[in-house]
Amino acid sequence: LFITLEGPDGSGKTTQIAKVAEYFKEKNVDFIQTREPGGTRISDKIRALILDSEHNEMHDLTEVLLYAASRAQHVHEKILPALEAGKVVLCDRFVDASLAYQGFGLGVGEEPVLQVNNIATSGLVPDRSYFVDVSPEVGRERMKSRYGNESLDRIEQKDLTYHERVREGFEHIFSKQTDRIVRINGEQNPDEVFKEIAKDLDQLLSN
Ligand code: C5P
Ligand code: MG
Repeated sequence: LFITLEGPDGSGKTTQIAKVAEYFKEKNVDFIQTREPGGTRISDKIRALILDSEHNEMHDLTEVLLYAASRAQHVHEKILPALEAGKVVLCDRFVDASLAYQGFGLGVGEEPVLQVNNIATSGLVPDRSYFVDVSPEVGRERMKSRYGNESLDRIEQKDLTYHERVREGFEHIFSKQTDRIVRINGEQNPDEVFKEIAKDLDQLLSN
């Protein structure tokens, strides 16, 4: 079982991932928790390269390919072996994030991002993706209160219109794939958000 959490920056998905991990521990589920970009030694180095706030000259296609390279390593070194060993894999972001951020946010387009990522993942698709949805304004306010304005990474620093396109991207992707995606209102309090995730997880695990 491959489960991902997706959503704009400041959606609270990192808080939710921690709650899901807690829930799995209580239920004695054999799982690993991981994140993108990152998740392996090599992927974490690529993450640092992508997110460095001094790398303003990075070309959009370089960004697409670096995310995909990070993901290729992550999928083949960590995710697939865990799935093959029968574990549940819980991952913070996956291909949907690339479609939303690079496909729509940067405007590279859905098709090229999908193609590159099909190669990177060898076609691996999550069984379930929770889309924690918040407006870009709410997301931005949460980020600012958390870190202060200076320590936002290169992507988080982009203007509100970029983040608006990212959110529209998520909407677009998820409106087409209704069986895999569970959309959750991320503007509720964290316990309410988790209640909705847990309700779906209960069902998923009992199947
Ligand atoms: O999920 P997290 O906030 O840790 O992601 C790190 C950064 O990478 C965020 O600023 C996010 O906006 C960005 N990102 C991206 N494209 C992806 C995945 C993450 O721009 N495909
Ligand atoms: Mg972030």
